[in-house]
Amino acid sequence: MKILDGRIIKEQILNELKDNVDRLNIKPSFVVIQVGNNEVSNIYIRQKAKMAEYVGYNFYLEKFDEDISEDALIKEIERLNNDSMINGILVQMPLPDHIDASRVQNAVVPLKDIDGLHDLNAGLLFHKKNTLFPCTPLGVMELLKRYNISLSGVDTVVVGRSNLVGKPMSMMLTNADATVTLCHSKTKNLGEITRKADLLVVAVGSPKLIKADMVKDGAVVIDIGVNRVDNVTCGDVDFDNVKEKVSCITPVPGGVGQMTVAMLAHNVLEAYKMQKGN
Ligand code: NAP
Repeated sequence: MKILDGRIIKEQILNELKDNVDRLNIKPSFVVIQVGNNEVSNIYIRQKAKMAEYVGYNFYLEKFDEDISEDALIKEIERLNNDSMINGILVQMPLPDHIDASRVQNAVVPLKDIDGLHDLNAGLLFHKKNTLFPCTPLGVMELLKRYNISLSGVDTVVVGRSNLVGKPMSMMLTNADATVTLCHSKTKNLGEITRKADLLVVAVGSPKLIKADMVKDGAVVIDIGVNRVDNVTCGDVDFDNVKEKVSCITPVPGGVGQMTVAMLAHNVLEAYKMQKGN
């Protein structure tokens, strides 16, 4: 059994990006927009700042009060859309309940949408055209690529169909010629379906949902879930038992989460290059 190590691959990717950025006269810049002071968001934002410092990007944090109105927030985004010195804009989730997250996300101009969540970018993914792609599923694709895991014709099951992870994941795998089955909370006999997968990708948010008897011998298992149980982080896969029967598996932490940060770094440079016209 091989562990697909997101930390090692992230380091490789950040070093490659750093080499590219070192050669640029003007450093790419990105902004994180935060509303309120969510503690978990603070941790994720610190990770992004650290990544930016390592690669050589300019990083800005725009923090707004919890009670900012949706319209006022969108005005701030429009200001950043029009600022030619800013290449990427990321709205840190979650937003307070009075703000429509989808409307805010779609206020970011698609060329600066380093989260890859704008409806237009989702449409381009659907049409298999190059654009800025959502970081987590893109990170899974990159991890599979760097471990030489082939996808063409591979029986693949994705569990979870969110716009953030599961749906774009299934689309990227389909575009890479995998044979994809997409499961969700209404799926009947989940275990019967997951047991047929040579590649199983899980993005649910339910600790250890996937047990050993739900996984095929020799499968590749990608665990996107991040859960806290008794102050310990675990994924959606029962790692200790599942690892005994698979060929490759991602750990949580140290797997897909690392790749998400790496792909955000990738998207910042991608956005910069797209804005420069190449
Ligand atoms: P989400 O929006 O809550 O979506 C969860 C999906 O799982 C939904 O499609 C839901 O089905 C499905 N689901 C729920 N219970 C199920 C069950 N018992 N059987 C099968 N499917 C079930 O969550 P998300 O944003 O996609 O995130 C999923 C997980 O990934 C979370 O743990 C999150 O923390 C993690 N995550 C990790 C990263 C990373 O960088 N590692 C990034 C993003 C998210 P319905 O559509 O029918 O409701």
